[in-house]
Amino acid sequence: PVNRSPEMQEERLKLPILSEEQVIMEAVAEHPIVIVCGETGSGKTTQVPQFLYEAGYSSDNSIIGVTEPRRVAAVAMSQRVAKEMNLSPRVVSYQIRYEGNVTEETRIKFMTDGVLLKEIQKDFLLLKYKVVIIDEAHERSVYTDILIGLLSRIVCLREKRHLPLKLLIMSATLRVEDFTQNQRLFTQPPPVIKVESRQFPVTVHFNKRTPLEDYSGECFRKVCKIHRMLPAGGILVFLTGQAEVHALCRRLRRAFPLTRHRPQEKDDQKDSVEETRRFKKSRARARKAQAMMLPQISLDNYSVLPAGEGDEDREAEMDDDEEEEALGSDLDLDLGDDGVDGGEQPDASLPLHVLPLYSLLAPEKQAQVFQPPPEGTRLCVVATNVAETSLTIPGIKYVVDCGKVKKRHYDRVTGVSSFRITWVSQASADQRAGRAGRTEPGHCYRLYSSAVFGDFEKYPPPEITRRPVEDLILQMKALNIEKVINFPFPTPPSVEALIAAEELLIALGALQAPPKTERVKQLQRSRLSCPITELGRTMATFPVAPRYAKMLALSRQHGCLPYAITIVAAMTVRELFEELDRPAASDEELATLKGKRARVTQVKRIWAGQGASLKLGDLMVLLGAVGACEYAGCSPQFCEANGLRYKAMLEIRRLRGQLTTAVNTMCPEAGLFVDPEMQPPNENQVTYLRQIVTAGLGDHLARKVQSEDLVDDKWKNAYKTPLLDDPVFIHPSSVLFKELPDFVVYQEIVETTKMYMKGVSTVDMQWIP
Ligand code: ADP
Ligand code: MG
Repeated sequence: PVNRSPEMQEERLKLPILSEEQVIMEAVAEHPIVIVCGETGSGKTTQVPQFLYEAGYSSDNSIIGVTEPRRVAAVAMSQRVAKEMNLSPRVVSYQIRYEGNVTEETRIKFMTDGVLLKEIQKDFLLLKYKVVIIDEAHERSVYTDILIGLLSRIVCLREKRHLPLKLLIMSATLRVEDFTQNQRLFTQPPPVIKVESRQFPVTVHFNKRTPLEDYSGECFRKVCKIHRMLPAGGILVFLTGQAEVHALCRRLRRAFPLTRHRPQEKDDQKDSVEETRRFKKSRARARKAQAMMLPQISLDNYSVLPAGEGDEDREAEMDDDEEEEALGSDLDLDLGDDGVDGGEQPDASLPLHVLPLYSLLAPEKQAQVFQPPPEGTRLCVVATNVAETSLTIPGIKYVVDCGKVKKRHYDRVTGVSSFRITWVSQASADQRAGRAGRTEPGHCYRLYSSAVFGDFEKYPPPEITRRPVEDLILQMKALNIEKVINFPFPTPPSVEALIAAEELLIALGALQAPPKTERVKQLQRSRLSCPITELGRTMATFPVAPRYAKMLALSRQHGCLPYAITIVAAMTVRELFEELDRPAASDEELATLKGKRARVTQVKRIWAGQGASLKLGDLMVLLGAVGACEYAGCSPQFCEANGLRYKAMLEIRRLRGQLTTAVNTMCPEAGLFVDPEMQPPNENQVTYLRQIVTAGLGDHLARKVQSEDLVDDKWKNAYKTPLLDDPVFIHPSSVLFKELPDFVVYQEIVETTKMYMKGVSTVDMQWIP
């Protein structure tokens, strides 16, 4: 029996899914696999595990498992459910890549999908679970898809053993044909239970015209208009990336500042009567709104300045030129064309509580959006795609949708990646609009025309069709799934992607090469079934990309393991350095940025060293940065002073710990530990590390174009790679940018204005076969 507090019980009863409890539980009792669809916020994630718990699916010490595509969700949801059920985190627990609080007593376990995949490798039948819930299946993340494929088989095997396993698939959209109409996946189509959402009507307003470039500016104008003219209610803005989010937050905070001073105390007497009137009106509106939507208001922990302030200095991952452009244009002061937006004159009479929201934002800052805004203010959340489905923000009445999304795009043949901003799908746009109607009727402002909307794709393509799959294929082979091509994918990756993955894994020695005579493309196509090697099995135990796993597997000699682990951890976490090439909001900030850039260039040179060590290039910088940072106690101050991202450093530390444990499990005689005072590698070790890196990145080799081969100016200082016809360049942030070695390997090529190699290291000619 669950002992919930009366308040909690009352809140639960408001959720639409509560009235479906019986229907869902009967379906689960009668069918091995059940699909539950319901709008975000209908209560799937928080309630279904509780239904199962109360129905006894965690009896006999078994566990109810719930997978989430995101770490944040796994942690937050376990906490929320524990609170709702009045149970300790020892009973309702979570497990994510680096950490967890699972105990012997755990009955409900939230985890990321990657964690469950690892568990399947240890215990294919998942015997400790009576139910597994795959949550957020509509996101179609790669691991979700693979898990669904695997679980379709595990359910059958468990049935044969008379130890039935129940599988629940939960989706925020009704797009489930890939699961229900896929005979190979489920021979019997599973029942779909649709939870009626208590969605209020949302009026959709299209723009007459679609702005070509400046959608951030358009967002700004729209928010100003809503805030000045429309009744109380939170505003949710959808933009594409972190930098844009911060720029808009900054601009809105400037336009509608939160101040301690009541506006009538301001010097400007002339407008004070009008201002007082407006202020009172807005306060009254806001109060009314809070009374309506947020019954329990706690203002205890509120300071007037939002704690997210200052965040805008921390642009990080995934910045690219497009984003810079968006940011640049955003900084131009523009006057509204509609006479409503009075430029950027700060207007303290209408305080706006502006909060950013994106996936890399620290969890405690993300949590702020769930708090009621300070009294007398209106909430405005400026978000990326994360607010589309996985988080429900209370009190949103207005949605402003730029209609775009930023995604990493991989070239299928060359693996070159670029960040592209594209139109969203119709399904995503509707999902975004739906966010406005959770608590009362709402409005969605689409900053594009209805004709443009008509041309959107219906649904976003599943992730598995959009990225390289070598990591997945290695994991699947480690599960002894040899004929990957026969695997019941909900949506299979392309045959080209499968072949490319298998070829890479053969080249890395993770899979057995088929006999030479059979290595004809035609045969490959039909087969795709090379078995895994011992090396491959070792590689599969490391939670990193196969190229990096190979490096770890090679590093046993010469005491190189601690260095290889550090380099691999830093390459996996990515974007160790802050983004400093961005426009500044003020002269002061500009000076700070300039100073920092100079400082970073200098420390990079120091960390790269001279002679032998410089040849390891950017990877030596990574090693030096992590070493120096750990030596300094990994303090936020050290990171700040040296242009390092503190959050990245913490992740690297965790991943180093995890990789060290993985290596110690493989070869206990190594006796490794994470040494905060790691000495730099000696000259021999550096050379050996370069060989290891070359082995792992062997397919990422580039040769400098010699001056006598120069056909065209565009090849000046350029490199040639086997797969690309166009020139590639060493990225200006690389320590080898001026060195221009003859041969290099690179971590990745990212295309912005040119194709740039990042994470570059020198290769000796005699190592090239
Ligand atoms: P779904 O999974 O269907 O999207 P959830 O179960 O996540 O829905 O959420 C149901 C409701 O529970 C939400 O509408 C929200 O009001 C509430 N809720 C969820 N998490 C929290 C939280 N951390 N704090 C307060 N309320 C929450
Ligand atoms: Mg959910």
